Amino acid sequence: MDLKGARSRKNHVHHLVLVPCPLQGHLTPMFHLANLLLSRGFAVTVIQIPSPSWRSLDCTHPNPSFPSLFFEPIADGVACDDDASNAGEDVMSFLLELNSKCREPFRDCLDRVASSAPRGCISCLIHDAVMYFPVDVVEDLSIPRLVLRTSTAANFLGLSLLDQKGFLPPQGTRLVEMLQELPSMRVKDLPLFDKCKQASTEEVLIKIHKGTTTASAIIWNTLTCLEQPSLDKISATLSVPIFPIGPLHRLSAEIMVTWAPENQKIEEGRTGYSAATDEVPRRWAEDRSCIEWLDLHPPGSVVYVSFGSLVTLSESELTEISEGLAESGRPFLWVIRARPVNSASLEAIRELTNTSKRGKITSWAPQREVLAHRSVGCFWTHSGWNSTLESMSEGVPMLCWSYVGDQRIISRLVSGVWKVGLELEVDDGIDSGPLNGSKVASAIKRIMSDEEGREMKRKAMALKEQIDVSLRQSGSSRQFLDKLVAFIHQLA
Ligand code: UDP
Repeated sequence: MDLKGARSRKNHVHHLVLVPCPLQGHLTPMFHLANLLLSRGFAVTVIQIPSPSWRSLDCTHPNPSFPSLFFEPIADGVACDDDASNAGEDVMSFLLELNSKCREPFRDCLDRVASSAPRGCISCLIHDAVMYFPVDVVEDLSIPRLVLRTSTAANFLGLSLLDQKGFLPPQGTRLVEMLQELPSMRVKDLPLFDKCKQASTEEVLIKIHKGTTTASAIIWNTLTCLEQPSLDKISATLSVPIFPIGPLHRLSAEIMVTWAPENQKIEEGRTGYSAATDEVPRRWAEDRSCIEWLDLHPPGSVVYVSFGSLVTLSESELTEISEGLAESGRPFLWVIRARPVNSASLEAIRELTNTSKRGKITSWAPQREVLAHRSVGCFWTHSGWNSTLESMSEGVPMLCWSYVGDQRIISRLVSGVWKVGLELEVDDGIDSGPLNGSKVASAIKRIMSDEEGREMKRKAMALKEQIDVSLRQSGSSRQFLDKLVAFIHQLA
């Protein structure tokens, strides 16, 4: 199949192929990007990579949940680690295995996509930066390739530093040194990965970096109002156009799409949370009773606790968290994903919440809607980038408790740069110490009761306003979306 020749035909709908990573925090922004591209008249095929997140996804067209998207399974026999939540324990090994298994079947998969009516020729491919397996394949076929980065620009700079300075893994007293290259950051804020798996970590990081720097352009789920200095630094070193069009979940909600292939109608829509534009594949079913429970509480009174889709809590952490929440005296909504929790500790926690009648435990919340709810006053988060963008988009101050990867830089940005949250310092400056319930309670009090917390709330609302402005017609994210669309048109 001559993919390149087919691509040069005139007067056809441009056909884009998207390659997401099958982890929740990566799938969600890619689907919002797909939504935006559909709204601009592109035909979009999403490559389906086998994983639990996708199990219920029907690839026949039209899929009732995603009627405008086309899906193409990469291959029947490609099985990655069968449980995506295991990836939380070692994301790098998971990514290494997934990329190496997908590489070979991908060429055939592209051939099938290119020969399938009515989509036909491929104008360009957009892949998640951590899915680097398409890089060589599309280079051979001369198909233009764009990358989607789903974390902060600061994290990209942090990773480059790790690479250049040999900071892998950061150690000892150097942890508290300030980094000249990254203002406001200490060595210990640099991205952290599983120290035992250093070889796979390095291999994956190098391939991700190469895939990004050699792409035709980078689409970034960030905003100029949050990260202009980091974006400027990256632009100064890379000769690749950068399109910061975040927060993707908000931009896609702003541009309400009623897609009909005949007229490609776009409706400009409402702002804020919109269930209609929040359709993404989900690994866990959302518990809608959270919203009814939140309705019972006064404005700004509830602590929402969630550590994303990958973090696995230990028994002692579970105990300290529940004791801290009990001591805080505040009502709380706590997401505990079913699998990682020992049933005895979960029972003890349920007992505690039942006794106090102040808490609700759920296995998966409709998080964006929860954060938009007036009764939520604080979000205790692991500082995943999606969670952080979702919280800032609603003006909710954060208590940050970071684990691995980009979470440490994000936590530092939230507390030290944007000042819309507090870092839960469980360490003594050198190495992580155990989580402590009393520290949790005192941090919650600082955010929800003290003047310090009121100032954070004011800053969070001001930042929300800046984000809203970025999404307006003349705002930076909208403008960059227009530029991205023009860029893709001139590629094809
Ligand atoms: N999320 C959700 N319900 C939950 C917990 C998380 O919908 O109960 C969503 C959350 O809104 C976010 C994603 O899961 O979009 C988590 O992504 P993030 O980047 O914050 O963290 P990760 O899971 O990648 O560590």
